[in-house]
Amino acid sequence: MPFNFKRYLIKVQGGRYYLPVAARLVWFREEHPNWRVETEPLEIDAERGIAIFRARVMDEEGNVLATGTKMETREGFADFIEKAETGAIGRALAVAGFGTQFAPELSEGGVVHPVDTPVTALREREEPPRELRCSDCGTPITEGVYKLSENRYGRPLCANCQKKHTPLAQPRG
Ligand SMILES: [Zn+2]
Repeated sequence: MPFNFKRYLIKVQGGRYYLPVAARLVWFREEHPNWRVETEPLEIDAERGIAIFRARVMDEEGNVLATGTKMETREGFADFIEKAETGAIGRALAVAGFGTQFAPELSEGGVVHPVDTPVTALREREEPPRELRCSDCGTPITEGVYKLSENRYGRPLCANCQKKHTPLAQPRG
């Protein structure tokens, strides 16, 4: 069965779709179980809060098919080291053809900065992918809206339905 990447797409700014790195990895592993992705820190500066990673997509013979690099800073993310590694993997996989059209971070001068779950964290959780929907009207919602709404209203609501509900007195988390 071909990998159904559509289940994993997330809508980001500008109405574009984003395929999370973890989903690109699943797709990659399903299609090429013998290929691998290797990462290498180019720079980790804990003092300045900068991490740069390079990822390489390799076939079973070790030929490099694609590379990607990514820098993250502590200002951007507390877990900037993991985020840089995840970002590098995502770019390399997109260049190799896994989710290329759903990788707005590859576009020139792109301002899109989707928040990805670090791949390592996702591996540990092994949560089944779920479709995020408003609990009132069933409209698909983004992960960001989902989290915000869960936090504020105790249930997933789209922006429209949020207006009809009273926020929880004490936001959780
Ligand atoms: Zn709704």
